[in-house]
Amino acid sequence: MSVQYERLTNWLQQQTLPAVLVSKRINVRYFSGFAGSAGVLVVSPTIRKLFVDFRYVEQARQTAPEYETVKCQSNPLDAAVEYLQQQNLDRIGFEAEDLTVADFRRITSVVAEHRWIPSVLDSLRVVKSAEEIAKIQTAAQILDQAFAKILPQIRPGIAENSLAAILEYEMRQLGSERTGFATIVASGPRSALPHGVAGDRLLATGDLVVFDFGAVFDGYHSDMTRTVCLGPASDRQRQIYDTVLSAQMAGLAAVRPGALCREVDGVARGIIAEAGFGDFFGHGLGHSVGLAIHESPRLSPLAGEARLETGMVVTVEPGIYLPEWGGVRIEDLVVVTADGCRILSHTTKQLLELT
Ligand code: ZN
Ligand code: ZN
Repeated sequence: MSVQYERLTNWLQQQTLPAVLVSKRINVRYFSGFAGSAGVLVVSPTIRKLFVDFRYVEQARQTAPEYETVKCQSNPLDAAVEYLQQQNLDRIGFEAEDLTVADFRRITSVVAEHRWIPSVLDSLRVVKSAEEIAKIQTAAQILDQAFAKILPQIRPGIAENSLAAILEYEMRQLGSERTGFATIVASGPRSALPHGVAGDRLLATGDLVVFDFGAVFDGYHSDMTRTVCLGPASDRQRQIYDTVLSAQMAGLAAVRPGALCREVDGVARGIIAEAGFGDFFGHGLGHSVGLAIHESPRLSPLAGEARLETGMVVTVEPGIYLPEWGGVRIEDLVVVTADGCRILSHTTKQLLELT
């Protein structure tokens, strides 16, 4: 049986749950291999069933061989719940954060509400297997190669949207199945927007330009940010860039198994605060990446007692954003290893002054 199935049955045992209904699309994919848009799993130590409708029967059989594919006439969730009702289980885990209120009303009309136990399965995905890491690495490589391809086209007069389109085209050509998220190309004053999705602004000499983009390879995401300058950087642009880079390098150096996620964040945040920009770094230092672009644990002051473990994949992405002036963010994707981390992003982090 797969590692993923073992993780799930161990979890059932820990929770003393006889069975679980898996409905979240990413988790259905993680535990079974089935990546279609509709399908639910019913899992117990003795049951492995994947409920799908007519569209997905063949795909389910091919991609989820460890599961028995059940073809449903109605919607897969309703069919799975009817099946569970016949099993007469006293407690069934379900993904409360995934189901809609309408779904919940339907399932509790078949199996009494007190039998449904709200469960969170996402934590089972945090430590990546070698196979998963290899896919993320491929997705990261696509970003390095795509960025190298568009570098000559980053020049005054081109629109952010055009650069985003070219970047996305190159990523597809390099094997990305889609973009991992809305591509950010934020130039000039717009670079002060941490999530400045590409717009119609034309790049101009003197701009800082933030590129934050992601690829997807076999379901697994990558994520990288680079900031470049159009023309020679001013002293202030350089000072801010160097501060972010120092914070980023210190953050990378702090990544190791056992480290508290909030402390890794604190190392980078401290450098930015010391330089006087503490108020202008308003987001966490990073996030985990996998089948979803934003996974837990996060590198954040709010991460509580979460610690890094070998095999986690996280971003390290400090930034400084000065309203109406501009901003800088630098982001690498890394794998936590026994003695620190391995960086998957290889694009240079020297400040490029493009003319
Ligand atoms: Zn990013
Ligand atoms: Zn990110």
